[in-house]
Amino acid sequence: MSQNLDRLEALPLRENLRGMSPYGAPQLDVAVALNTNENTHPVPQPVVDAITERVSRAAGQLNRYPDREFTELRTALAAYLDHGLTADNLWAANGSNEILQQILQTFGGPGRSVLSFVPTYSMYPLLASGTGTKFIAGQRAEDFTLTAESAAKQVREHKPDVVILCSPNNPTGTALGLDVVEAVYEAAEESNSMVIVDEAYAEFARFGTPSALTLLEGRPRLIVTRTMSKAFALAGARLGYFAAAPEVTDAIRLVRLPYHLSAVSQATALAALEHSDVLLSTVEDIKMQRDRIVDNLKRLGLEPAESDSNFVFYGGMENAQQMWQNLLDQGVLVRDVGIAGHLRVTAGTEDETTAFLAAVENYLQQK
Ligand SMILES: *Cc1c(COP(=O)(O)O)cnc(C)c1O
Repeated sequence: MSQNLDRLEALPLRENLRGMSPYGAPQLDVAVALNTNENTHPVPQPVVDAITERVSRAAGQLNRYPDREFTELRTALAAYLDHGLTADNLWAANGSNEILQQILQTFGGPGRSVLSFVPTYSMYPLLASGTGTKFIAGQRAEDFTLTAESAAKQVREHKPDVVILCSPNNPTGTALGLDVVEAVYEAAEESNSMVIVDEAYAEFARFGTPSALTLLEGRPRLIVTRTMSKAFALAGARLGYFAAAPEVTDAIRLVRLPYHLSAVSQATALAALEHSDVLLSTVEDIKMQRDRIVDNLKRLGLEPAESDSNFVFYGGMENAQQMWQNLLDQGVLVRDVGIAGHLRVTAGTEDETTAFLAAVENYLQQK
């Protein structure tokens, strides 16, 4: 490994990539994996059948490039999002990670900057560095909340080219009020900056939590990103998308690789969208498990944050690292997100959630 590292260092790497490590949670073989916020419910059989049928039809034409504009898919995504959106407002790519990369390739880059508010999704700084964009770590309050006033002030101070708001925020789980998005957009207008709201977990938000989709009208520099990796239980399909003004999708067309969305991906996503009601039927159950985690961790004397997502961020233990290891020894893998004194756990199926809660209780009793 260290020899490999020496060899890697000898390559003519871009300076900003030196010393970096690749992103990725450990893919360990454990009984209960609750570390990457996937939907842990398997894809229901009727949806598997529909995907198989669609992909099989596409397979016969794989000698040809796919529809570069994926018009049918953009139409289906617009119908799913509703809010008066049409295919012209929609864009898709291989996961919302690729979406964010394309946005930074278009609006960031050398000499430009992107501001986000940490702790937040740890891919943002990596995507910034991969696109040569300077990452600015904006601040949150001590309890990880972010007010409209503070966010807007930081945007005015740094004048970044791109702002990324993650709502619900990963890893803390809580959604932002729309007042924060509105205030950030207003501040960003002064520097003609793009504002991204990453709503990867929107479908899990608590009742009455509005989406930033409601703010798109009349805001040409606002982009709302979504993914099929979480609520849709399709992380393996790699399908992310965004809604924005049509000229934003035209801007992204300048950097996207031709035919970036394979015919197989398009067929998979279309079949899934045709069955969105079946796929999303697990969401209510996951929200129930999530609330169960919050309630029980409180009961055990821990300090979980309120969650609008399919995971719970919690503190209040003496030694988070030790708890992480102990849970792993009991066959339950959670996420150490690198924030002192805190861990993050994905809400799993009822059985997985029960296993997690039992392991936590067990650990606390041992001490
Ligand atoms: C999981 C996640 C994504 C999704 O990434 P995909 O590339 O669509 O799988 C995006 N943003 C956040 C904050 C996430 O946690």
